[in-house]
Formats: sequence, C-alpha cells, structure tokens
Amino acid sequence: MTGFSSLKVGGPADAVIEPATKEDLIRLVSCLTAEGVPWQVIGRGTNILPADQGVEGVVIVLGRHFAAIQEVVGEGGSRQVQVDAGCSLTKLVRWCAGRGLSGLEFCFGIPGSVGGAIVMNAGAWGGEIAQVICEAEFLDDAGHLEHRLLTRNDFCYRGWRHPHGKVVVSGIFIVSSDEAPDIVERCHRYAKARAAKQPKGVASAGSFFKNPEGVAAGWLIEQAGLKGLRVGGAEVSQVHANFLINRGRACADDFYQLMRVVQVQVREKFGVELSPEVKLLGRWYQGGARDGKE
Ligand SMILES: Cc1cc2nc3c(=O)[nH]c(=O)nc-3n(C[C@H](O)[C@H](O)[C@H](O)COP(=O)(O)OP(=O)(O)OC[C@H]3O[C@@H](n4cnc5c(N)ncnc54)[C@H](O)[C@@H]3O)c2cc1C
Repeated sequence: MTGFSSLKVGGPADAVIEPATKEDLIRLVSCLTAEGVPWQVIGRGTNILPADQGVEGVVIVLGRHFAAIQEVVGEGGSRQVQVDAGCSLTKLVRWCAGRGLSGLEFCFGIPGSVGGAIVMNAGAWGGEIAQVICEAEFLDDAGHLEHRLLTRNDFCYRGWRHPHGKVVVSGIFIVSSDEAPDIVERCHRYAKARAAKQPKGVASAGSFFKNPEGVAAGWLIEQAGLKGLRVGGAEVSQVHANFLINRGRACADDFYQLMRVVQVQVREKFGVELSPEVKLLGRWYQGGARDGKE
C-alpha cells in the first residue's frame, strides 16, 4: 500500500482494483459482497495508515476515472456543482474558479479526493464540507445506488454521524457566483498560508490527530515537548507538531508506536485524550502490530 498512502507505508493488499466506470464499480462491489470477499474503498490515501501486515481483501481505489465535474441547477435556480468522488479537491476548486463559482476555496490544497473529503468532512480556514454539500450518491454493499439529501446534521467534526452507504460515488455542492480573479486570489492566499504552516517535501497524512474541543492538538503536542520525537523513521514534525512525518524509511508500525507515545504523553501532561484523524486500514492488532496478537 506504500504507493497508495501519502505516508508511504503499508504492506500489500490482497488486491487493489481501480474501476474504470460506475458500472464496473457496481459489478465489482456486488460480486465481492456475494462472494464474501472483504473490501473497502479509498481515494488519494492522504488520511490512512495501512498496516505493515497489509490489507485483507480488495482495496477499491476511486481515482482519475471518477473525476467528472458538471454544473447543475438546484432548487430555485441556485448554482450547484456535481462531482465524482475520485476527483481531486484542488482540481474541483480550479474548475470552479475558472467558471466564477465560489464556495469551495477552503478545500484548495487539501490533497484528497472528493469522496474522501465527504467521508472525513474535510475542512480548513473555517470552512468544511458539511457547510457546502447538499446531496451525495452512495453505493451500498449489495451494489445499490442511492441519492440522499444531506444537511450539516449528517456530519460531525472530521466525519459522519451516520454513514449512509459504503461508497460515496459523487457529491453535489452549493456554490455562488463571484469574480474569477477574487476566487483565485483567495485560493492563493490559502495556499501561501498552508505552505507557511506545514512541513514541505516530506510524506505525511496532514494533521494526524483530531483537535480536542477548544484546543489545537498541535499546540498540546508542542507544549508536551514532543516536536522532533522519533520512533524509527516516523517523527513529530518540527514545523507543525500535529504532522507525523516519514523521514524516509518509516514503516506503518513506527507511526503507530509514535502515535501511542504522543497520546500517552499528552494525556499525562494535560489529561486530554487525542484521537487519530487518520484511519487505520488493514491487519492491525490490539496494542500495535509488534504485539503480534489479534
Ligand atoms: C499535506 C496534507 C494536508 C492536509 N490538509 C488537510 C486539511 O487542511 N483539512 C482536512 O480536513 N484534511 C487535510 N488532510 C487530510 C486529507 O487530505 C483529507 O482528509 C482528505 O479529504 C482525504 O481524502 P482521500 O481521498 O485522501 O481519502 P483516503 O485517505 O483515501 O480515505 C480516508 C477515509 O475515507 C474513506 N473513503 C475515501 N474515499 C471514499 C469513498 N469514495 N467512499 C467511501 N469512503 C471513502 C476511506 O475508506 C478512509 O476511511 C491533509 C492531508 C495531507 C497529506
């Protein structure tokens, strides 16, 4: 999975399949479910920690084949954008900017896919997916497609309240008209701020931990004196303490062990429990991979 995770770690999946069409995806999902083969879907892999022991079953990647974007007319003639789950967020924002469609600029520079962003309720600079999405298309285990209207109540901080189906196939976002140069200017401002705050040129999954209520996880980690802490090739970034980075030769278990050390130290110092924003994928074991017990 190293090639499919932005942390550049993880053992092999039994199979990785990138369907080329929606029909292929539906056939694949129905078939795997009917045969009892475990499967899961990922997008750009920018928020996952796949286990060194690999991933059982099939990993379905929704990528470049699921990247169509079109403008649609919403209720009362409002402007909306429908986009397939595999489209990159940055491509979507650029597409909107080129047509004078505003509202999604906060996503500019988040390296994930639209599907991953919907599932994670991705956000930045005060914006989040929950504020701009109005509908999504889901595929269930049995291969049935369903459109659902969505509101903010369907989401929580960096996630869903109740998942509606196993695969997000597409989403519809509410946008508004604005001058293209103003949209582009906002995107550049966000990109500049991002570049100033985040480590450059190293593998990471962005913010590793969710921010606890009222406080930034990065602040807690920094105040606990953990910047630069290393386990194997995984390190707490010196630039942004909530980024755990791959120094080049990290394995997934290095990240897992580093995550545990950070959690323990922050709990001991502040009495605050940090929970990972990053999703553990594959053959992980209770207490970490090295324990070797399920
Ligand atoms: C440098 C960097 C900066 C980042 N900055 C931000 C930021 O500012 N704000 C923010 O919120 N996040 C940020 N992230 C995290 C990440 O980019 C987002 O969470 C992104 O939305 C994840 O999308 P993805 O396609 O990579 O999802 P993946 O990592 O592939 O998957 C994440 C989860 O979503 C599920 N999933 C993915 N696609 C689908 C689908 N189509 N249907 C059903 N389930 C699916 C996966 O099973 C997994 O559980 C950053 C990451 C990096 C590396």
